Amino acid sequence: MTTPKPAVPLTIAVHHATIGKDTQIRRALPHRQKRMIGAWCFLDHIGPAYFEKAHGLDIGPHPHIGLQTFTWMIKGELMHSDSLGYRQLIRPGQVNLMTAGRGISHTEVTPEEFSGETHATQLWIAQPESERHNPPRFEHYANLPHFEQDGLAFTLLVGEFLGHTSPVQVATPLIGIDITTNNQPFGKSTITLHPEYEYGILLLEGNAIIQGVQADPDQLLYFAPGSNTLEVELQVNARILLIGGVPFEAPIIIWWNLVARTSEEIKQALSDWNTHHTRFGSIPSYPGKRMEAPPLPVTLVASK
Ligand code: MN
Repeated sequence: MTTPKPAVPLTIAVHHATIGKDTQIRRALPHRQKRMIGAWCFLDHIGPAYFEKAHGLDIGPHPHIGLQTFTWMIKGELMHSDSLGYRQLIRPGQVNLMTAGRGISHTEVTPEEFSGETHATQLWIAQPESERHNPPRFEHYANLPHFEQDGLAFTLLVGEFLGHTSPVQVATPLIGIDITTNNQPFGKSTITLHPEYEYGILLLEGNAIIQGVQADPDQLLYFAPGSNTLEVELQVNARILLIGGVPFEAPIIIWWNLVARTSEEIKQALSDWNTHHTRFGSIPSYPGKRMEAPPLPVTLVASK
């Protein structure tokens, strides 16, 4: 029997950003204080927000390298189109996983006729050295393991938990779980952690107390490796996202939509995007303009 080592949270301020034309979102990762949690290197919390018809998200063609984009849809709809020719509508309870490898481009657009609430998270997963130069691919997961315990409903997005395994294909030890009260008035559970993982929790809706700390949508709770239990307590209609993983193998550079290990790789990818290199393909179905990269900073430094 191992002695319980409860997790001790560190709070990290979430910043506000704009994506697409004018959609306000919360960006929890990367942060100066904490760049990555395992291989999770980017976390945008989108909504909940009401979109009028023809006024939803509109993210034009842009490139990615060295990462997987992981979209978890809670409410609403979003159409993914990419340079491999995939067009995939994502609906609540579903995941889109795009693996960029050496290069891909895509668009993400709310369908023209859609109006209503949209609530989603988009995360990026840094690819390990063994995978990051591979060809791109895309997968849609219509169904994920869903189970209940202690008044809480769990959707297993990535990894293994309580005897369930997510079908989502990732290349490093990771976990991602959506936890709600599922219309129950209250739910409380002690979650078993992997001591070798670091973890993060973001409040997505409602009220929750995590390890005795009141959760806040503007704060990411971070837990360093070495703990084996975590107390989560959710009130009616609350929802949290729990992510975790083994600390990543190497420092990375994240610049714009690109993840790499050296500034030369970033500069090459930028030049290839600007010169319409075949590495990033095209998305002929998108009616608007490609996204333009912001100016490169003088120095790009790798960090974890
Ligand atoms: Mn993207």
